[in-house]
Amino acid sequence: MHHLNADLHCHSTVSDGTLSPEQLARRAKDHGVALWSLTDHDEVSGQHGAAAAAHAAGLDYLSGVEISVSFAGQIIHVIGLGIDPDDAALRNGLADTRAGRSRRARAIGDSLAAAGIDGALDGAQALAGNPEMVTRTHFARWLVATGVCRDTHEVFRRYLVDGKPGYVAQQWATLRDAVGWICGAGGIAVIAHPARYKISANQEWALFEEFKAHGGRGVEVQTASHGDADVARYGALAQQHGLLASRGSDFHGPGESRVELGALPALPAGLTPVWSELHSRIARAD
Ligand code: AMP
Ligand code: MN
Ligand code: MN
Ligand code: MN
Repeated sequence: MHHLNADLHCHSTVSDGTLSPEQLARRAKDHGVALWSLTDHDEVSGQHGAAAAAHAAGLDYLSGVEISVSFAGQIIHVIGLGIDPDDAALRNGLADTRAGRSRRARAIGDSLAAAGIDGALDGAQALAGNPEMVTRTHFARWLVATGVCRDTHEVFRRYLVDGKPGYVAQQWATLRDAVGWICGAGGIAVIAHPARYKISANQEWALFEEFKAHGGRGVEVQTASHGDADVARYGALAQQHGLLASRGSDFHGPGESRVELGALPALPAGLTPVWSELHSRIARAD
């Protein structure tokens, strides 16, 4: 089968990426992407700019978002593809999801200060392109920039995660709400990078079943944080659950991300790509 270079997961300065939507579109084109989606965390304000930039660069485009969800004591990410970015219920839901971030960012700053690291809130805020989207990524970059850690991998081992300084629990959207907003906006909901969640196989099965019961239809199989064994495992789970398969680099910026835009291997044979169900939602470059 012809392999379509679809990259349906990445981040811009609208959330925790380091490039603008326009820079990403150009870069995606230069790296051979044919179908692109910008999936900023909890925010769709970059979507019109991304669609216009995709058109200018000669890329087919799907609107996207990556929603933060609380499930089984974990943070689960749910991607919405082919959404209408102007849908009112989606926008309101995302605004509510973003609302707790300022308070949480202050609490993260306080927690790091208690561990002897001062100035983190101001530092993270200065690195955030969107004042409503101060994320752990911005704290991580500041901790690297100030020499506290060598790289962001070290940050997420020593700080900002459960049990370590700078971790602050947060209630995100429910699985039902996130999937509902995506479906209501005409999109397809996809479980992002499933191998990253620290849940048992039983909880994972429950996650997939509940996700489908709410109307979810896809799972990311090919993504930067998945090794070969993860790709095989989630390819098989996609088939068992009758889910569509997605592919996305989760690119956050040059020099930071493991995988370049468009550079992932193709989806394993035998899976149904999520874009095969999204033809009417794709904005064609020509
Ligand atoms: P937040 O939504 O503020 O909790 O920030 C989550 C973001 O932190 C994710 O979208 C990733 O970009 C980044 N992140 C989380 N865990 C890790 C990790 N182990 N290594 C690198 N980046 C991470
Ligand atoms: Mn991120
Ligand atoms: Mn994610
Ligand atoms: Mn992501």
